[in-house]
Amino acid sequence: MKSAQSQVRRAAELALLTAAIPPLALSARFVQGRKRAEAVWEASRFPKMGDVGAVKNLTILPLIDWYSVDPDVLEGESGVSYLIRADDTTILFDLGLNKNQEHPSPLLRNMERLGVNFNEIDMIFISHAHLDHIGGMENAREGLFAPSAGYVDLHQMPAYLPTPLVNPAATPIVIEEPTVLAPGIVSMGPIPRQLFFLGWTPEQSLAIHVEGKGVVLIIGCGHPTIQKIIARKEMLFDEPLYGVIGGLHYPVTGSRSVRHGIPAQQIFGTGLWPWQRITKADVHRAIAFLYRRDPKIVALSPHDSCDWSLAAFRTAFGQRYQDLLVGREITI
Ligand SMILES: [Zn+2]
Ligand SMILES: [Zn+2]
Repeated sequence: MKSAQSQVRRAAELALLTAAIPPLALSARFVQGRKRAEAVWEASRFPKMGDVGAVKNLTILPLIDWYSVDPDVLEGESGVSYLIRADDTTILFDLGLNKNQEHPSPLLRNMERLGVNFNEIDMIFISHAHLDHIGGMENAREGLFAPSAGYVDLHQMPAYLPTPLVNPAATPIVIEEPTVLAPGIVSMGPIPRQLFFLGWTPEQSLAIHVEGKGVVLIIGCGHPTIQKIIARKEMLFDEPLYGVIGGLHYPVTGSRSVRHGIPAQQIFGTGLWPWQRITKADVHRAIAFLYRRDPKIVALSPHDSCDWSLAAFRTAFGQRYQDLLVGREITI
């Protein structure tokens, strides 16, 4: 039973949100976009990837996320950037939020403190074009992606994107379907979701085949839902699911980012109508779904999930759960 107070709060939030935009146009776009996303999903029947190769060693070092091993030294924010080392290939997965549009950004400052340099990075992988993954609001507005507000030499490295975005110092490559990026390293291709305010959102996840273990999924925000991301993995690979690391968007009891008093993540990014919320039951369903696949490592990003959801995952997966913290490397 919802309390009268929370209903009043939601009504106030809705009034604020829709004050500047015609709700009817948004609603029509939402209904159409949801149908289109389902049609795209139904039409996406990809064959098995076959032999994509495998890596022997895989580590994931969070450079940006909400929690940090030591907040005095390494900054946290409600964005994502992970350094992935897969044998000889080093990938920078997403570029953080850079909330105050600083230069150097929190990402650059954390990289320096962790001794990570752009010279050692082979490619950038952008999960989706939201501000907390492409380096901030300015970039989202301008269709750019950047690790900081000032110039950073990216050595014209390839940047794999689910939608067209620009950075003059890199070589952007739009991924439209499942693609091998390096031996054992696969983009599973974008899966779209229509979001009420944020609109059409294709998101790609990374799948890394680790020799003798299975496939490790690295996920940005998880907008397509874990069910669809894993369905795509099962469409592409015969190997078992070994790990799930990253964002799944479960802001049930709270939102990391609050704008003008609005719990942004509980309203934006859910794929639901603005008055609907992700529930504890949704989280339990997702956990049960994942549990049946028997992953050996699960690490949920705190950047778009609340502490209640983190605790639910931790309880369910026990020893197999790892906290995802800036500065703590996850070794597969
Ligand atoms: Zn997002
Ligand atoms: Zn996100």
